[in-house]
Amino acid sequence: MPPTIFKNEPLTDFSKPKNKKDMERALAVIKAGLGKTYPLVIGNQEIFTEETFPSINPSRPEELVGLFSKADHELSNRAIETAAAKFEEWKWVDPRKRSGYLLKAAKLMRRRKHEFSAVMIEEVGKTWPEADADTAEAIDFLEFYAREMLRYAAKQPVTKIPSEKNELIYIPLGVGVILPPWNFALAILAGMTSAAVVAGNTVVLKPSSDSPLTGWMFFQLMREAGLPDGVINFVTGSGSTIGDLLVAHPKTRFVSFTGSKEVGMHINELAARVQPGQHWLKRVVAEMGGKDAVIIDEKTDLNAAAQATIVSAFGFQGQKCSAASRAIAVEPIYDRFLNLLIEKTKNLKVGISDNPSNNIGPVVNKSSEEKILSYIQKGIAEGGRLMTGGKKAAGGGYFIEPTIIADVVPHGTIAQEEIFGPVLAVLKAKDFDDALAIANNTEFGLTGGIWTKNRKNAEKAKRLFHVGNFYVNRKITGALVGVHPFGGFNMSGTDSKAGGRDYLLLFLQAKSISEKIK
Ligand code: NAP
Repeated sequence: MPPTIFKNEPLTDFSKPKNKKDMERALAVIKAGLGKTYPLVIGNQEIFTEETFPSINPSRPEELVGLFSKADHELSNRAIETAAAKFEEWKWVDPRKRSGYLLKAAKLMRRRKHEFSAVMIEEVGKTWPEADADTAEAIDFLEFYAREMLRYAAKQPVTKIPSEKNELIYIPLGVGVILPPWNFALAILAGMTSAAVVAGNTVVLKPSSDSPLTGWMFFQLMREAGLPDGVINFVTGSGSTIGDLLVAHPKTRFVSFTGSKEVGMHINELAARVQPGQHWLKRVVAEMGGKDAVIIDEKTDLNAAAQATIVSAFGFQGQKCSAASRAIAVEPIYDRFLNLLIEKTKNLKVGISDNPSNNIGPVVNKSSEEKILSYIQKGIAEGGRLMTGGKKAAGGGYFIEPTIIADVVPHGTIAQEEIFGPVLAVLKAKDFDDALAIANNTEFGLTGGIWTKNRKNAEKAKRLFHVGNFYVNRKITGALVGVHPFGGFNMSGTDSKAGGRDYLLLFLQAKSISEKIK
C-alpha cells in the first residue's frame, strides 16, 4: 500500500500530566542504562576496541553517559571496504523496499519517542521541548525521504520522439561518509543517513564525539527495522583522527557533512584531491555555520519581536546553526527594543536540562564553554555594552548565562564570527536599508528574519536578504521538514536543502537510456 501524504510529527505538550509522566518514565529508563560500553559495528561484526572515549552529561559532567570504541585507521578502512562490498547488493534492492525500512523505523521511533528525546537531554543538554522537537524532526525525515524515494523511483518525464524509447532513471552513487554534528544529534544524523541509504547507497556513519549514544540509538533502530548488516556501518572516534582517512579513501564516493565552516572547508578540499585508484570526483554536501540576524523595523509589534528574538537566540543555548546571533534594530526603536530583550532574558531560568522548569540548559562541553566566554570578553573589549549575563551560571555543569551585548559594531568579531552559544549581539542601524546592508555583511547566509508592518520593507527584505531560510514576523529557528526546506548560502554550505524535494538528488545520479525502436 502506498504511504499516505506526508504530515509533520506533532510536538508534545508537556503541560499535560500524561505527557509529563511519559517523559519522566523515559528519562528513568535512559538513566538506568547509562555508563555502558559500546562497540563499532562494521558489517555484521561488533568490535569493542581497547581504547575508548567517554560521552558525558554536560549538565553534570561527572555523569558518564557511555564509553565508546575508538576506531583507528585499520578499522575505518575496513568500514569503507565493507560498505563498498555491500553496495554491490544494496544498490539493486527495490526502492520501495528501501523506503519501507525508513517507514518502519519511523513507526518504531514514534512508539518510543520520549526515550530518544531523553538520551539527548542527558547527552547534549537539550531541554524537554528542544529534545522533543529534535525527535519529531527525525521522524519527519524518515517519513519524508521514504516518500521522496518513491517519487524518484517513479517514471520520469522525458520528451518523446518517434524513433526511440527513452527513459531516465535515478541510480545511487556508492559509499557515503556521513559526518553529522551533535546539535541536532538525532534529527540531522537520521536525516543525512536515511536519505543516503534510501537512495541505494551504503554508508559509514561516524556520529559526533559529543553525541555518540544518540547515534547508537538511531543505528540500533535501523537494525530493529530490519536494515541489512553493512548498509550502515557504525564507527565512532575522533573526526580529527579518522576523518581524513574516511574522506580521502578512494572508495568513498560522497561525503555528507554538517558542522563547522572550518571542518567543512577542510573536507571539501581533501575530497577534491583524486586518490590513486579513485574512479570519480567525490561529491561533497557540506552544511555549515551561520551568523543569523533578525532585523527589527520601526513599525512593528516590538513585544512580539523581542519574544521571538529571545526564543531564536537562546533556544538550546544558542547552539543552533539557525540561532539569532545578531539583532539589528533601527534607531528610533533601538532603546525600547533593547529594554524588552533584557527584561525577557532576565526571566529565563538556567539549569540542568532534565528539570523541565529550566529554559536554558548547559552548553555542550568544556571547550565550548571556554570559547563562548572568550567571545563575550572580546565583544566587550571591542566596545560592546554588556546588558545582561556575561558569565558562567551557577551549578556544576557547563552553564552560561544568556548574554546580551549591545552597541556591537557591524565589523566587530561577535558580529562576524559564529559563537554557537547563548550570546546575542545587538546592533543599531540608521534606517531599514542600513539594517539590510548590515545583515548581509557576513560571509554566511543561513537564516534571517525581519519584524515589520511595512509591506514594502518586507518585500524588499524577501528579495535582498541573502539567506537560504528567510522568515517574516516569526522566529528564525524551527524549520519544519517539507514545509521549510533548510540550508544556507555562501559559507553556510553547499546550497543544499535538507527536508526539501531536491535533497535526495544529492545522493543520486541520473542515467539516460535510449533504445532505437524504428
Ligand atoms: P564540527 O566540529 O565541524 O563537527 C561535525 C562533524 O564532523 C563531527 O562528527 C566531527 O567529529 C566531524 N569531524 C571533525 N573533524 C573532522 C575531520 N577532519 N574530518 C572529518 N570529520 C570531522 O561541528 P559541530 O561542533 O559538531 O557542530 C556545530 C556546527 O555545525 C556549527 O558550526 C553549526 O552552525 C553547524 N551546523 C550547521 C547546520 C546546517 O544545516 N547548516 C546544521 C547544524 C549544525 P568529532 O565530533 O569526532 O570531532
